[in-house]
Amino acid sequence: MNTTTTDRRHHEVIVLGAGVSGIYQIKRLVDMGVDAIVLEGDDDLGGTWNRNRYPGCRFDSESYTYGYSFSQEVLDEWHWKEMFSAQPENLRYLHFVADKFDLRRHMTFGARVATMTWDDAATQWTLQLESGDVYTARFVITSLGPLSAPTLPKYPGMADFKGKAFHTFHWPKEPVALDGRRVAVIGTGATGIQVVGAIAPIVGELTVFQRRPNWSSPLNNSPISDEEMARIRARYDEIFDNCAKSPGGFEHVPRWGFWDKTPEERKALWDELYTQPGFAILAGNFAEIFFDEAANQELSNYIADRIRGRVHDPATAEKLIPKDHGFGLQRLPLETRYFEAYNQDNVHLVDLSETPIERFTETGIQTTAGHHEFDVIVYATGFDAITGAYDRIDITGVDGVRLADKWKESPSTFLGVLSHGFPNLLMVAGPQSVSGSTNFPRAIEVGVDWVTGLLEHARANGISRIEARPDAESEWVAEVERAHERMLFRRSKGWFTGYNSNVAGHQEGKIRYQAYFGGSPRYVAAIQHETETGYASMVMS
Ligand code: NAP
Repeated sequence: MNTTTTDRRHHEVIVLGAGVSGIYQIKRLVDMGVDAIVLEGDDDLGGTWNRNRYPGCRFDSESYTYGYSFSQEVLDEWHWKEMFSAQPENLRYLHFVADKFDLRRHMTFGARVATMTWDDAATQWTLQLESGDVYTARFVITSLGPLSAPTLPKYPGMADFKGKAFHTFHWPKEPVALDGRRVAVIGTGATGIQVVGAIAPIVGELTVFQRRPNWSSPLNNSPISDEEMARIRARYDEIFDNCAKSPGGFEHVPRWGFWDKTPEERKALWDELYTQPGFAILAGNFAEIFFDEAANQELSNYIADRIRGRVHDPATAEKLIPKDHGFGLQRLPLETRYFEAYNQDNVHLVDLSETPIERFTETGIQTTAGHHEFDVIVYATGFDAITGAYDRIDITGVDGVRLADKWKESPSTFLGVLSHGFPNLLMVAGPQSVSGSTNFPRAIEVGVDWVTGLLEHARANGISRIEARPDAESEWVAEVERAHERMLFRRSKGWFTGYNSNVAGHQEGKIRYQAYFGGSPRYVAAIQHETETGYASMVMS
């Protein structure tokens, strides 16, 4: 077995990223005895949980469905403390796993890859780091994370602001004083909604700049006692089995039969689901809400009434209710006392559709209605999702073709793992897989296992070059498109449909098919079929 050392520059496999998927991927490679290392651009492991340190940051998957399933020891030893665990604990968990299997020694930190170039003659990738260091590898496995390329708005004068200002992804590691401060939050996606709920009780004044409201429903978090954890441990096999059977990788299971029930029966169900933890109201609801306009409208009306019942000022409540898309048709944020925050005298909502931002100043933000003074400005303005992390690396494949050019309009992959013209580039949680659309760790364990199986096959058969057939790739892209077309969210704006107003080249109303929405079981069936047919959709040599 070749264990790795990080002072060498050639490796059989280089994994990019030491987040949730990179940690598990290197574990599998080490177990296989492959010469492999991880290059991580940040200063430590943990990926999303190392970066996102903003107040309120936590899972909205039940903690015990988010943890790894691959190790009985980890399952036996780790005690989740909350139903929806917060960032510090989640980062501790990833450190616990990495340390338990002594994986850190295979990782190099502060190693951000700038370019990756395929050399067909040598059958290997050359990776140049921002530091200038050069590595080569037969295979590169990307574990870049779907939400790791943060994006900022482009308002005039942003650099003039003299107070503290940062994107939530870059929230400082050292404590940020917020008590008594005047704080702006720009953006009301899952992140902004978590931040607002968490900081409203401590700041002096909080002003939320909302471009479009988002639907949101209660997280309903609670602690997990020792007894509860013992019950969860005893049920782990069942839990992971349930997740594997559900489209979203959760224990929540959608049901059909919306129109078989009376409106009163539907409301009774929603009253129950609204108070249940996590995505129950979405993933445990009638499946028709995702496909049938009238069904979705009825549920949207119900949630709108819930918002009206929680926000005292009717005008503010109306501003917080989305009118341009139905409930669950963009990625649903889950909240903790978000709507109640607006009942506080020190919390203000600025509706940017009425009073847009004109410019930033040294002391704050000027809208068409007036000037707001701040000590801290928080950008909760989202990510260049899924493909953004790939675009940040200049990746050049066969015949000098750049991946960013191939994917300019929309990504194109085979099973979300390979892309024709880019041999030996294996993407875990890649575009057009289910990792962006389902409970992330459930999806990446499937992805890592499949990629590892592919590498085992290559090793056993003396294969050094793997490339997806273009016709197989076209078929998968068509399947991804079909899955989008079935769903109502195909008309909504947001990262599910690949739109981000802050990214050049993204066109409103033009879908980038970045994630597969056919559900986890269908995706797993597709990748298993590929294995069972001897990797028939790939050219191997
Ligand atoms: P997001 O959902 O893309 O939301 C970004 C917000 O910023 C939107 O409200 C957007 O408005 C606003 N915005 C963007 N550019 C703007 C501009 N130039 N001017 C004014 N407003 C602007 O991003 P996010 O909230 O960071 O969430 C991204 C994803 O991360 C989530 O969907 C989720 O998958 C993940 N996440 C998960 C958790 C969790 O597990 N609990 C928590 C946080 C995030 P528009 O709507 O008008 O574009």
